[in-house]
Amino acid sequence: GHKLVEHASFEALKAVEEDGHPEIPATARRFDDYVADGGYSLLKALLAGEKTAEDVLSVLDNTALRGLGGAGFPTGRKWRIVSGQPGPRLMAVNGDEGEPGTFKDRLYLSNDPHRMIEGILIATKVVGIDACYIYMRDEYPEIIALLKEELAAVEAAGLTDHTELHLRRGAGAYICGEESAMIESIEGKRGLPRHRPPFVAEKGIFDRPTLVNNVETLYWIRDIVEQGADWFNNQGKDGHPGPRSYSVSGRVAKPGVIVAPAGSTVEELIALCGGMADGHSFKGYLPGGASGGILPASKSDIPLDFGGKLAEEGCFVGSHAVVVLSDQDNMWDAATNLLKFFAHESCGQCTPCRNGTEKAVTLMQSANPDVNLLGELSIAMGDASICGLGQAASNPLTSVMKHFPEDIVK
Ligand code: SF4
Repeated sequence: GHKLVEHASFEALKAVEEDGHPEIPATARRFDDYVADGGYSLLKALLAGEKTAEDVLSVLDNTALRGLGGAGFPTGRKWRIVSGQPGPRLMAVNGDEGEPGTFKDRLYLSNDPHRMIEGILIATKVVGIDACYIYMRDEYPEIIALLKEELAAVEAAGLTDHTELHLRRGAGAYICGEESAMIESIEGKRGLPRHRPPFVAEKGIFDRPTLVNNVETLYWIRDIVEQGADWFNNQGKDGHPGPRSYSVSGRVAKPGVIVAPAGSTVEELIALCGGMADGHSFKGYLPGGASGGILPASKSDIPLDFGGKLAEEGCFVGSHAVVVLSDQDNMWDAATNLLKFFAHESCGQCTPCRNGTEKAVTLMQSANPDVNLLGELSIAMGDASICGLGQAASNPLTSVMKHFPEDIVK
């Protein structure tokens, strides 16, 4: 069933942000407590040969776990692909969590960092990984401080002898959440997305086959292997297997991370957040952060999952960041704000994105925006940009032209 994950923690996280100093979150379950609760027994069984890599892979084959950083690639399949590549194989954990409105990874790490760390160590053993780079965004200094201590505890306990773990800090670039740009950054270069193919599973960090997983994806691994594929899959609904962590923010009474069945609707999520904030009536929403598009309240019954009806609307759920907007928000202003964000965060490597995002902002801010020209610009950016940033940057713009034309001329 539906379950709320501690709105209190969300408040605590905001307090850390306002204080501006990296105090380790008091909520965090530390190494000894995690071990006392059965933590690392699965890893130890793998290390001792009591469980095999195939035992783990066959559970994942049947589990609907998908890449929860936003791309949604089936996790079991990815682990098999990388384990079939020649060694040495490397791994990167994407902890950049830069998609606006997304804060689930931060909450999970603040409460239970070892669940992710055990997930990493299981992956390194099962897939045969020589070294893993944990890429954490620098805007989470309290998480970096926490991970430093907890990774040291795991190493001291001899649980990392089969691999190497490196903790790396990002430097605040949105594009470094894109996996190939993150890999460039890990290599010490500017975070510029790479052309594909080759895919990072074949040529990733230092051109070696690389497994890239998001923090939350790894967070679920231990529970899935211990409790089985059905335990995980049955937490979904109506053909949408598994649970999802929705970061819900905006004009709701109580924003927070909500663990709910995959395919939940914004209507259900708003109800779980205590309804709309006082004085606000529901007007529209971002189903998937900055680039997943904007939908009107009349489409509040669409299942929020990868593909399906959401994709038919030209939108996507991505990292499951749902931003709720109200009658007090002008949607054209919201879209302009998002395009300014993309213009700022574009890595500048390709013209349709670098110039297109800037041109879009200029046109959107003009007194009488030329919607035909903006439509053509959107198509060019979508067709000709190298990576997802430029390809999806115009989604908020085209959504508002389609669903909220009355907001365009103010
Ligand atoms: Fe860089 Fe934008 Fe091109 Fe992506 S689409 S590679 S962010 S310029």
